Amino acid sequence: MFKELRDEFSEKLEKVSVNLEKSCWDFYTNSTPENMQKYEIAQNEYSDLFKDKKIYEKFLETDKNKLSEHEQKQLKNLLKEFDEELNTGEELKALRKKENEIAKKYNSYIPKIDNKEVTKTEITKIIQTETNPEIRKKAYEAKIKGGDLIAGDLTEFVRMRNDYAKTKGYDSFFEYKLKEEYEVDAVFLDKLISEVYSKSGERIKEIQNKKQNELKKFFGADVLESYHYGFLLDSSREVNEYLKDKDITEISKKMYKNMGYDVEKMIEEGRLTLDLYPRKGKNTHGFCFGVEAGKDSRILANLMNNVLSLDTLNHEMGHCVYDLGISTKLPFLDRKASSPAVTEAVAMMMGDIIKREDVLKDIVPFELLEKFKALYIEDEVSFVSKSLLIIEFEREFYKNPDEIPAELWNKLRGKYLGRFNNEDNEWATIPHYLSHPAYYQNYFRANLMKVQIYNYLKSRLGNITENSSTAEFLDKNLFSSGASVEEYDLIKQFTGREFSADDFISLII
Ligand SMILES: [Zn+2]
Repeated sequence: MFKELRDEFSEKLEKVSVNLEKSCWDFYTNSTPENMQKYEIAQNEYSDLFKDKKIYEKFLETDKNKLSEHEQKQLKNLLKEFDEELNTGEELKALRKKENEIAKKYNSYIPKIDNKEVTKTEITKIIQTETNPEIRKKAYEAKIKGGDLIAGDLTEFVRMRNDYAKTKGYDSFFEYKLKEEYEVDAVFLDKLISEVYSKSGERIKEIQNKKQNELKKFFGADVLESYHYGFLLDSSREVNEYLKDKDITEISKKMYKNMGYDVEKMIEEGRLTLDLYPRKGKNTHGFCFGVEAGKDSRILANLMNNVLSLDTLNHEMGHCVYDLGISTKLPFLDRKASSPAVTEAVAMMMGDIIKREDVLKDIVPFELLEKFKALYIEDEVSFVSKSLLIIEFEREFYKNPDEIPAELWNKLRGKYLGRFNNEDNEWATIPHYLSHPAYYQNYFRANLMKVQIYNYLKSRLGNITENSSTAEFLDKNLFSSGASVEEYDLIKQFTGREFSADDFISLII
């Protein structure tokens, strides 16, 4: 009974979901008013599906006791969407509208340096490589202006989202998202955070101090200002010199080919679409769009030929191979990654594999490559402290939107990154706060999962970028089951051990 009802409903759901993903892709790659309108229509079509009271009642009548645990979860998620649309549909619509407006405002902001327009990608490049502090200052200020532009809107949006969460019985939208959308146990999350922070806190401070001293020395500054940070002092700057005349897309394709993924063929067959370079009117971040699992996956990115972009491309490709590896035979509701954290774990593993294995050995001289790979641990430490900052800021801000966000950000930046600078709206330039609220904890957990997954893969396959059976192994054992297996069960099934922070902690301390 439930199965028939679910499958019948899923058929309609699949159609509107695919259309929604496609129109989102069109809007993100080309943010014209028409595309925004089409995207809004697709969002409304999706919502309308969950406004059918008759079907809702049928689902409500389902006898839960006759369902498997997995089916119970499917039912719960469906009922949640119906409840949202039927009982708070207008509020949701207003939230989506506000989100689109803020996104549009931010995307159409063009930074200027000395009255000359520059792209956000160029700003990033200046922050990473420019040695002149005057220019760095201007670039940093131009970046923050983008944040200033939407900071007020975001604060208002936080209040709107909280009002919505209250109608669902939650104090804040952050807690609501965590529980209802990501199904993350807040107690378990806190335990993971405090375990990692208490065991690696010393190591984090040690590495931060070392990096700050290097920066001070390089710029001849007694005090570091915000615009000094982000400069690549380490060997990635030298590696960038070797990449600047190369096509990183080719490097990535070759890496995937060595694992057994034929990227060219995927593109030819229309299973994979790449939109990789900056353009006016295009979203300035990087995303993978899983339009149809197993069939149609797309990457939006704004690449340059450097280490960071190669990491981004390999990361997004990781999401794509996961998506495309999901069995099309699964029921629609299971045709997605096991969880957002698992797909992030795979993507992050692929992103930093250039620092773990010898992907760049034909391009970068041996000694430099070894130095570059030695950065891996520092990167892990930086990533963890940054994610803890982002998670805590967001949680705090939703808890108390009356706090001055720039002040809160500066306080937490001091706590987690070991630096106190002028208060500013840097926080508002983090895209997840707008588009993926409460999402960063997925990166944090994924980072731990990633190490556990990689250790296991390495024990089975050796260097995964040098073993052409990697693709088949991943597809079969990790990807194909989609969401039919719960995240922690999947990690246990795959690695033979419960998911924990153990592998990560022993890696960094
Ligand atoms: Zn990702």
